Amino acid sequence: MGGGTVSDASIFDLIIVGGGPGGYNAAERAAAGGLNILVVEKEHLGGVCLNRGCIPTKTLLAAAKHYKIAKDSADFGVNVGDVSMDWKTAFKRKTKTVRALRSGVASKLKKHKVTVVEGEASFIDRSTIDVGGTRYGASKILIATGSRPFIPPIPGAEGPGVLTSREILDIDHIPESLVVIGGGVIGVEFASLFSTLGTTVTVVEMLPEIVPSLDGDVAALLRERLQGEVTFKLGARVEKIDGTTVHFSDAQGGGSVTGEAVLMSVGRRPVTDGMGLEDIGLDIRRGAVVVDEKMRTNLPGIWAAGDCTGKSLLAHSAYRMGEVAVADMLSGGQGRDRMRYDAIPSVVYSLPEAAGVGLREADAEKAGRKVIVKKLPMQYSGRYLAEYGQDPGFGKVVIDAETRALLGVHLAGGQCSEIIWGAGALIEAEFRVDDVRELIFPHPTVSEIVREVIWEF
Ligand code: NAD
Repeated sequence: MGGGTVSDASIFDLIIVGGGPGGYNAAERAAAGGLNILVVEKEHLGGVCLNRGCIPTKTLLAAAKHYKIAKDSADFGVNVGDVSMDWKTAFKRKTKTVRALRSGVASKLKKHKVTVVEGEASFIDRSTIDVGGTRYGASKILIATGSRPFIPPIPGAEGPGVLTSREILDIDHIPESLVVIGGGVIGVEFASLFSTLGTTVTVVEMLPEIVPSLDGDVAALLRERLQGEVTFKLGARVEKIDGTTVHFSDAQGGGSVTGEAVLMSVGRRPVTDGMGLEDIGLDIRRGAVVVDEKMRTNLPGIWAAGDCTGKSLLAHSAYRMGEVAVADMLSGGQGRDRMRYDAIPSVVYSLPEAAGVGLREADAEKAGRKVIVKKLPMQYSGRYLAEYGQDPGFGKVVIDAETRALLGVHLAGGQCSEIIWGAGALIEAEFRVDDVRELIFPHPTVSEIVREVIWEF
């Protein structure tokens, strides 16, 4: 139905704008809590993470990992002859994986009797939205509109040779050379992917070290491991892009580097524009929806979750934010759930992997907090030695000097992406060194590196 009224059929308990991790997961939780829900999604269920981010990149990185393992397999006594990479097959596998997961999300929503409408939502008032001329109403609305790549105001940045993570995932061949602007998480993952497959990769990073979100030692090890396959221009600020030539300034007088393609990966920005959010009086600052620890906005009945809040631009943070918002809705504001940001694990899925959770050594120094830090090579784990030999990697643990509570765990090396959640749980539960010592870790596993470091204190 069109026009200015909302029919009974279009009234829901909860409208969720955005079907990404912040939205679809919240829909499942809210449906389980008995709410009648509408999800509005303008593109594909699953959002950027499933369709154009985490999942496609991890599928391609898995292909690169297999390629690398096959090439290096003689060390293990396995002779495979000539190894070659067939990008088309890897690409098809990526598409198949994304489709399977997307239909998984759709069927879960269907099972929960969630209504899904395709289109762009715009706000008519605080409890009514319009999607393609049809109006929908609800007493509760969750905004989960995600983020988009940031394109900095650099001359030439919008040229056709400059790709974002979105376009590079559609590339139909392995480029001969690639210039990556921004050595953050996205830049390093793509640098690792393509350099493993033979592309000549140069990363141009403004700061003195790559991946500033990681612990400094972890970031340095990652860079040292990638160096050789990847050229890093650090402390280099991009001034101009001519086609696919990137001009930068640095302490050495600057320079330029040309690639077949340029990847722009200098961060992402919340999507909050073009929906009439300001018109209904929503508090938006620096482009992000302002939320409290319950994910409430300044408007009663409207919550926000995920990248659009600008708080922690990670799919797993979005899941939790959505759950906190739903818990608040279902409890009528009386629940205890709140969003905590102290122990959100971060992972870089490069080859090798890097991961961290909690306080970093540099954060402690900056805050003048008294901590003790211990670090051991990954080779203290028998499983690591068996599988990765002398590949450099380490485990690093930060504890409070007085209480001996775990504050941070930072890892570099194979399989650390699968371990880090456990370290996060220990930090969330405020475990102290002696508590961790009582835990039994499966042997032999790479996770034992945490146990080994704990006995160093
Ligand atoms: P980022 O913030 O991680 O890194 C951007 C990098 O670009 C920084 O190192 C910054 O110093 C650098 N930079 C900024 N302007 C520059 C310039 N003009 N010249 C050179 N360097 C410049 O951003 P991203 O890598 O684009 O990722 C975007 C978001 O997506 C992040 O919040 C990230 O956490 C998230 N993400 C996470 C994962 C993961 O968890 N594995 C994967 C992909 C994306």
